[in-house]
Amino acid sequence: MQTIQIRGGRLIDPGQDIDRVADVFLQGGRVLSIGEGPVDADVIIDARGMIVCPGLIDVHVHLREPGNEEDETIATGARSALAGGLTSVACMPNTRPALDSQAAAEFIILQAKRARQANVFPVGAVSKGRNGEELAELGQLVAGGAVAFTDDGAPVASASLMRRALQYSKMFDRCIMQHCQVMELTVGGVMNEGFESMKLGLGGMPAAAEDIMVARDIRLAEITGGRLHIQHISTARAVELVAEGKKRGVRVTAEACPHHFTLTDERLRSFDSNYKMNPPLRTKDDVDAVIGGLRDGTIDLLATDHAPHAFEKKMRELDQAPFGIVGLETLIPITALALIEPGHLSWPEAIRKLTVEPATLINLPTKGTLKPGADADVTIIDPHTEWTIDPSQFHSKSKNSPFGGWKARGRAHTVIVDGEVRYALGGVIG
Ligand SMILES: [Zn+2]
Ligand SMILES: [Zn+2]
Repeated sequence: MQTIQIRGGRLIDPGQDIDRVADVFLQGGRVLSIGEGPVDADVIIDARGMIVCPGLIDVHVHLREPGNEEDETIATGARSALAGGLTSVACMPNTRPALDSQAAAEFIILQAKRARQANVFPVGAVSKGRNGEELAELGQLVAGGAVAFTDDGAPVASASLMRRALQYSKMFDRCIMQHCQVMELTVGGVMNEGFESMKLGLGGMPAAAEDIMVARDIRLAEITGGRLHIQHISTARAVELVAEGKKRGVRVTAEACPHHFTLTDERLRSFDSNYKMNPPLRTKDDVDAVIGGLRDGTIDLLATDHAPHAFEKKMRELDQAPFGIVGLETLIPITALALIEPGHLSWPEAIRKLTVEPATLINLPTKGTLKPGADADVTIIDPHTEWTIDPSQFHSKSKNSPFGGWKARGRAHTVIVDGEVRYALGGVIG
């Protein structure tokens, strides 16, 4: 059995409260030991000056297969994940057809195995066909490998359906992930409703459309005892609501995306569709509140909402262009730039939100940690390397990123999945 020794790196494993220089030994697809190990490892990776951590996990990506393979496939999306330092991603069900059956979930897992890139875990639809009417066969989805449920791309609009989903999902101990948006309030919306939308004459999406559904669903989680996960939180009030809910003991968690803690609605002055996402970029006060929520733990984890769209689609006029941006390959540098360098989070705090927290959310006890016996998924980050983000170099099929040209420091250096080195920056394994 091949043994890999990752030598001399700064080992950060928040799930075990470890932050010190230590070697990591992998064998047979598992973590063998930390610190001491066999003296005759078959492969030695020099990690001096690097951060070594459990493989990063993103619970919110769109991989577009089946149905929109021109934007992304499971293989290209999983490759993009690796290049961004992620060893596992959970993909959303808004494919064509929707991911609402056992066979559909099994297809995702099969395609990911064939691709041999990052692990991909399917998130099943809450409602059949994502129509928002009838509950999907949650039990069959779990049997097919679904790790959570959501109708993302759209919210579960019906309060009674959401209540039943929260109730029923308890049987499988899975969370319901919700895209919080009262659709009636955002008809014709392109961007955040406020001073900027008025000035630009563009349709607005009020913060209240998010706040109202966050408040409703926290209350539904409270009365059912189900697990609610708020996706891509973007408003100051929503952050307060999650904090209040947690204080009352409601089982609610939240994620934030890099664009929501770096960019504001002023960016839309450029009319560039790479600033068009849903939920939209909000105001400076909202950005500060999201950062505050990340700092105090109200927001449990970081996720990208990686939403690839082919160039021709995204280049339509602003009101015609689809919502969303790619995010996998900019997650580490933007997190470093916007959260770590200004001192909002330390590396261990940021890595916690990308390892043990997401692993707990989607029930992956052998991931998100480097405890002996855990899966041999490891991300090695070079925190010092300076580079300029160039979307044309992305492994993703789509290049719709607002971060092109940004000067960043830090990126994935070597990524190991299941005990195999599957990505090495520049193809060189040190
Ligand atoms: Zn969404
Ligand atoms: Zn999404």
